[in-house]
This record gives sequence, structure tokens and C-alpha cells, in this order.
Amino acid sequence: MIEKQIQATLKEMECSACEKGVFRLALDLAVEDTNPKQWLHACSHCKREVYLTKVYPIIEYKDRDFMLADSLRFERSSDSISLHNNK
Ligand SMILES: [Zn+2]
Repeated sequence: MIEKQIQATLKEMECSACEKGVFRLALDLAVEDTNPKQWLHACSHCKREVYLTKVYPIIEYKDRDFMLADSLRFERSSDSISLHNNK
């Protein structure tokens, strides 16, 4: 595998209800089989649930969005994304 360093941007989806949390994949990962697919997210603060067409957080690089490979697997929890420190 060849690895290159890139300058990318991490994009969080803020919760508009509490304005404190960000959306993370819900624990019991539910994928709606729509086109495009939708993933169930829960706010990290108020736990409000929403379906989003992309799995957040998203990595943006050169104006294109990338989803974490972890997001596409099913054996994971919403706490396992360690890219972003919420402190
Ligand atoms: Zn919230």
C-alpha cells in the first residue's frame, strides 16, 4: 500500500435542535435502502435521530466528499470514530 499525506477537511453535521452536538451514526446502524441510501444518525448531545444521505463526519478533499471506510461496516459503534476530538 502506498500512503500519501493529504490536506483534507473534516466536516461535521451540527444538530440544529440543540446546537451543541454533532450527528454520529446511531448505535443500531440502520441503513434505509433508498436511492441514495440513508443512514440513521443520532445527535451526540440531545440524541435526536435523523436520516442523512452521507455518513458523518465526512472528509472533504479537493471538493469531493469521502466517507470513512469504517462507516460502511456494520460491526461498530458510533463512539468508535476517533478522528475528531470533541473537547
Ligand atoms: Zn442535538
